[in-house]
Amino acid sequence: MARYTGSVCKLCRRERQKLFLKGQKCFTEKCPIETKNYPPGEHGLNRRAKVSEYGIQLREKQKIKRIYGLLETQFRNYFNKANKQKGITGENLVKLLESRFDNVIYRLGFAASRKQARQLIRHRHFMINDRLVDIPSYSLSAGDVLKLRDKSKKLDTIHSSLKRVKDSTYSWLTVDKANLLGTFVQVPEREDIPLNANEQLVVELYSK
Ligand code: SF4
Repeated sequence: MARYTGSVCKLCRRERQKLFLKGQKCFTEKCPIETKNYPPGEHGLNRRAKVSEYGIQLREKQKIKRIYGLLETQFRNYFNKANKQKGITGENLVKLLESRFDNVIYRLGFAASRKQARQLIRHRHFMINDRLVDIPSYSLSAGDVLKLRDKSKKLDTIHSSLKRVKDSTYSWLTVDKANLLGTFVQVPEREDIPLNANEQLVVELYSK
């Protein structure tokens, strides 16, 4: 499957905010956003062009898409699904994205980034409800229990990542660090999700 292979830090600088794509580096002062919070490129620092309404909507869509590490078609498919559900489309979209297996592994602290979470899942380190699942996009349901396979419990990557998180960072998740398992208690409400983005602009963009 096609994937973005360029500098991920440039993506954050393009959006002028931390998208947390790089793992541990994002939580240190080595993060380029700390020192170069302007778009990349020769004219990044001096760029003053007026941004159109379309441009604003496009940037917001790109930002959310990049945070969750999706390509355009995958993101559009989530939007279409959200649009068919009852309720507010933008909120539905964010809830669907938050319910992805790779996102939850990241939020639980088993991985330092969503990209790393995807890698760990594809390498078959995790089970859902005692069943091996190696599909990062798998959509979780309330009550699903995620845990490491026995043979993966000594992975340094996971233990160093877990040090970063507290036991109760998110109200819709519980993590048991001692037993290396976590529970997706429920689909979160939009106001509980720490996503600094305006998903309504995505709805407006795709509704044109
Ligand atoms: Fe973004 Fe992380 Fe790079 Fe900082 S270190 S610019 S948050 S990817």
